[in-house]
Amino acid sequence: MAGLDSRERQVVARGRLTGGPGVVAGSLVVAAGVCFAAWSLWATDHAVCRLPESADACQSQAEPGSPVCSKLAATDSQAACECQTMARWVQRQLGADSPLLISSPLVIGGDLPAAELEVWRRETIDPAVRAMTSAYFATTPSEPVVVLLFATEASYREHAARLFGDREVSRYGYYRPHLRTVMVNAECGPDAMVHELTHALMAFDFPAAPEWLGEGLASLHEHGRIRDDGGEILGLPNWRFGALEDAIRQGRLPPLRSLLGAGSFRGPDERLSYARARYFCMYLQSRGALQACYRACRAGREGDPTGEQAVAALFPGWSWEQLDADFRAWLGRMGTPAPQVRLSSLTSQVPGWKA
Ligand SMILES: [Zn+2]
Repeated sequence: MAGLDSRERQVVARGRLTGGPGVVAGSLVVAAGVCFAAWSLWATDHAVCRLPESADACQSQAEPGSPVCSKLAATDSQAACECQTMARWVQRQLGADSPLLISSPLVIGGDLPAAELEVWRRETIDPAVRAMTSAYFATTPSEPVVVLLFATEASYREHAARLFGDREVSRYGYYRPHLRTVMVNAECGPDAMVHELTHALMAFDFPAAPEWLGEGLASLHEHGRIRDDGGEILGLPNWRFGALEDAIRQGRLPPLRSLLGAGSFRGPDERLSYARARYFCMYLQSRGALQACYRACRAGREGDPTGEQAVAALFPGWSWEQLDADFRAWLGRMGTPAPQVRLSSLTSQVPGWKA
């Protein structure tokens, strides 16, 4: 049940994700009743709080007589107040005996014992938040984010239905952007947690991110390891590679540029879209260009909403055909029979190139 292995600091893959929060996110379900309405009102109407730069800024602070174990920013009473207010709301929905942790800006709860919640916080959630914030995010959350973990799939589904009226959900987890709430089936391990946390944090920093970048980064973070200095999650190969293998074998892997275009990310080829986005992010990371890509996409979001110009600028002198060929060759070196490509000598110009 633990998240990051304490020795390897590696996000351990224990299952497959099907779909993502996009499958269930985006629509407010009316049938959820009073608790949902209250949560929704809080999320939309509450005053904005100023939160600390990182979880490191927090100091432990127990609240006597309360099941809420606080880890609040001593330097920011408003953030502490916001998290406490949210925690009280969550407490009412989950029951007075449910343990909660506050690791500002996160309010972490569910139906796990307090000791298990603490392991999730310490070994998975906080390291992932620190790494992502360090690597990508200039804007930190201005509101609490609720993270709910449930011990079994049955409990996860029961709570998704009772709290939000969500009945058709991925068995792994999902993110409710309107409510800034992550729901996770803890039985499946940390993959979904880190994926959905990426969305939850990115929503503050780059809410208009193109879908390929948002899902690519979230999917990359499903399975990886924390860099030794804690400043980035380095993606490792995972099950999503299968979709690429199938497409390459069948000769139907679309040109890279179409991933960044205005075409549909969803639809019948959604599984392949996720795989292409994840592995393109991993390709960029292998060349030390992923962080620069994220920043360039964010900076140019108004005139370049798909990020196409930002990606092209990372590879000066390359045509899209050359970049596509290099990406396919890189995929081939990961163990898949690659289509015949001739690598350009321009490879050495790629910033941060690593073989
Ligand atoms: Zn996602």
